[in-house]
Amino acid sequence: MIISMKLHATRGEIDAVCERIRDFGYKVHSIEGEERVVIGVVGTGDVTTCLESLEAMPQVENAVRISAPYKFVSREFRPGKSVIRVNGTDIGGDEFVMMAGPCSVESEKQILETAYAVARLGAKFLRGGAFKPRTSPYDFQGLEEAGLKLLRKAKQETGLGVITEVMSDRDVPMVAEYADILQIGARNMQNFALLKTLGKAGKPVMLKRGLSSTIKELLMSAEYVVAHGNPNVILCERGIRTFETATRNTCDIAAVAVLNELSHLPVILDPSHATGKRSLVPPLCRAGVAIGADGLIVECHPNPEKAMSDGAQSLSLQQFANMMNELQPYIALWKQARVHEAVVA
Ligand code: PEP
Ligand code: MN
Repeated sequence: MIISMKLHATRGEIDAVCERIRDFGYKVHSIEGEERVVIGVVGTGDVTTCLESLEAMPQVENAVRISAPYKFVSREFRPGKSVIRVNGTDIGGDEFVMMAGPCSVESEKQILETAYAVARLGAKFLRGGAFKPRTSPYDFQGLEEAGLKLLRKAKQETGLGVITEVMSDRDVPMVAEYADILQIGARNMQNFALLKTLGKAGKPVMLKRGLSSTIKELLMSAEYVVAHGNPNVILCERGIRTFETATRNTCDIAAVAVLNELSHLPVILDPSHATGKRSLVPPLCRAGVAIGADGLIVECHPNPEKAMSDGAQSLSLQQFANMMNELQPYIALWKQARVHEAVVA
């Protein structure tokens, strides 16, 4: 259930409503806007009687049962978009956010060269895996903490924020020390122990859609993180597994628009994993901007042929520069659309 209080309801009135909700055995989570308070009700109980009782309270504007099983991440709960400020950049706001870097952190030279290049070209976040979820146990597994230290060095030198994957709940405190955003990989989207731990991680989370997960399952996983105490979740479409073999995954571009309709959380598109092919990355980036993603996460590498993972989908730094250049007119239109949306809202 979601309860909207009347405009300018007083503290006492809000508390009275919360108490009534608790009397029915539910938990209460409220969002306090400047003018209006919205209360999310979680738990199980006699919904109908509780709704009737709340609707009868004069300070309640309306009380609705929501059909979606996710609450906190839904648009009903927060009609405007969530803006998550990280390392001085607003994600979900009126800035189009570019995240870029190699699939894996491989060496100091590789990560610094990439970081300097992408920072100069307008990226705000450096990506790079130090813990790699590889299909084969014989493939490069990442530099682990040594890789995190290199990311920190790149941040100190360039000012870029760092986004990097954490694969296990055990590693969350360590990765959170180095990262500005904790990336949860597709293979871990439904690692519920990890999702619960992220609720207390104290850092924003970017949750990638699972290989064969529905949009609803992605939102339910986001709900786990928020319900466990961390409202700063970013969603990422990175392609799903279908019968199609021309691309590594099938980019569900519509998912960006669907997520924007269903949820207030920022949405990032990953065209690299969605296609697996560097030639397809620039067109998918354009599509991501046009469809209203809040940003992109793109793999690039100083020498993609020698990359220790995902070389085929990584842009060279020159290709990344060209792409950023080509993307500018699209980003300019995106900004106009954002301003318009804000005015209409
Ligand atoms: C990655 O970002 O390098 C990665 C492993 O992504 P995904 O979890 O989407 O496969
Ligand atoms: Mn990768």
